Amino acid sequence: MRQPARLPVIRSRERHLTRRGVLWLGLRCDVRCKFCYDEHVPTAQKGWLSVEDAIRALEKFRFYYGNEFVDFMGGEPTLHPAILDITAHAASIGLRPTVITHGMHLAKPERAAALADAGVHDVLVSIHGLGATAGEIHGRGRHNAARQIQALDNLRELGVPFRFNVTMIRDNLTQLEAIAALAAAKGARVVNFLTFNPYFEWQRGIEIGFQVRHSEAAPYLRRAIGICSAAGVEANVRYMPLCALPGYEQHVYTGFQLPYDQHEWDYNSWYDTGHPGRPGEAWYYQASRRQQQRHDYRHVPACGQCALRGICDGFHAQYAARWDGDEAVPYPGPLITDPRHFIQHQDKNQYPATPSDPGGPAQPAAAGEALTAPLGLGAGGGAGTRHNLPAG
Ligand code: SF4
Repeated sequence: MRQPARLPVIRSRERHLTRRGVLWLGLRCDVRCKFCYDEHVPTAQKGWLSVEDAIRALEKFRFYYGNEFVDFMGGEPTLHPAILDITAHAASIGLRPTVITHGMHLAKPERAAALADAGVHDVLVSIHGLGATAGEIHGRGRHNAARQIQALDNLRELGVPFRFNVTMIRDNLTQLEAIAALAAAKGARVVNFLTFNPYFEWQRGIEIGFQVRHSEAAPYLRRAIGICSAAGVEANVRYMPLCALPGYEQHVYTGFQLPYDQHEWDYNSWYDTGHPGRPGEAWYYQASRRQQQRHDYRHVPACGQCALRGICDGFHAQYAARWDGDEAVPYPGPLITDPRHFIQHQDKNQYPATPSDPGGPAQPAAAGEALTAPLGLGAGGGAGTRHNLPAG
């Protein structure tokens, strides 16, 4: 058995720039979440990333960009035929690996144990619903919720930490509190409540039935955050305008706050920008602005009077077109430009570096061609753009 790189965490209000890369291993999946970005990608384009390309990317993340963590994205990464080898390689070079998964295959104890033995650092499980709702959102599979619960129990038994992702849609709003309670009961460290993002192929859809207004989700969300906070579970809300959750802004992460969450992705390696090592905060602020434009978030007219317009993405273009952005409530006062303004008051999980920490500072980047060459990983598995909107 390999030595897993799982360190105890501390709760802290110190905010550091994230050192986490992301690698898409391929878009294949055995469920069809109704909100999935990848549902419109032709099956023929859903290959797996080769082990060689995966290793090349991991080495660049670690030794060129100085990343200390990596997320494996899919599709469903546990289906990748070499997931154990890829996980083990990441762990062996001090790039602590997380697998983002629906978790159902980890209901088999031997599958969970194999991932633990490969050195997985933690697992981010998508819990979009409980009971029959899980299967209805997945659109495929049997006993989905029960398998997910079994997977959580298996991981807990193995001592592998886990976190939750929840994409908030009409189907699960009334379950958000129960999902928070499940996280507390099972010992999840973090719950990320995600707004549905109409990226990629969803951009053209105005009337998306399962999409909810922020103001509709907010009451459920506030109560779910309260349950998490009372249980010591870190609760984060992604891509919701700050004014949608007054009083809870320390939990809100738009593209400006994401670089200060250690569980989020480093814009530098994510887009393989070629900036060696670790850029400073000013670089990440500009990268946040680029991300706002890349993902088509925009301020509505009311935002022009808002003190937070320098640290808030506003609304997605599709959302604003559908609902006019009439939920915007400008904050009074002078312009705020520090993305940590609210999140510095949130207790978050941190992974302290130690001399024996396998994820500590990377060796200075070798200038070799192998590390400086662009990764060039396209749709279906890579650090760069993975979707192209078809013409028309
Ligand atoms: S008014 Fe606009 S800029 Fe201000 S918090 Fe709301 S969405 Fe963000």
